[in-house]
Amino acid sequence: MSRVQSESWTCPNGHFGNVMHGDAEDIWGDTECPECGAEPGDPINPDAVTGDAPGVDDWIADHRPVSECCEADATFVWPDEREAGLEKIRWQCPHCTAYLTEDGETINVQAYLLKQELAAAKAGKRVAS
Ligand SMILES: [Zn+2]
Ligand SMILES: [Zn+2]
Repeated sequence: MSRVQSESWTCPNGHFGNVMHGDAEDIWGDTECPECGAEPGDPINPDAVTGDAPGVDDWIADHRPVSECCEADATFVWPDEREAGLEKIRWQCPHCTAYLTEDGETINVQAYLLKQELAAAKAGKRVAS
């Protein structure tokens, strides 16, 4: 059990105006961010991060691929802007708006969604449409 003793800590993903004062355990009964489950010192989670996250600009600059289609620096798609079924797709080409993999390859969204659907069906889960 880790106990946060510092006067303030920052959710690495920028929730709650990004700085939390007081003892996180006293406030929430836990050391985790109630929004994304991150603990102090965790790395940025690209599927939960917000624009308030400290260092997110550096993270994007360090991680973004170059789009294969237009050879442009990919644009990061914020988690709250992602469409249903595309929650794990993080990058988009700034020119042709194609969705991109972590390597900058173009994603065929139709095929991607179909694959998700098949995987979900296989797992016996229902797909939200
Ligand atoms: Zn958080
Ligand atoms: Zn492109």
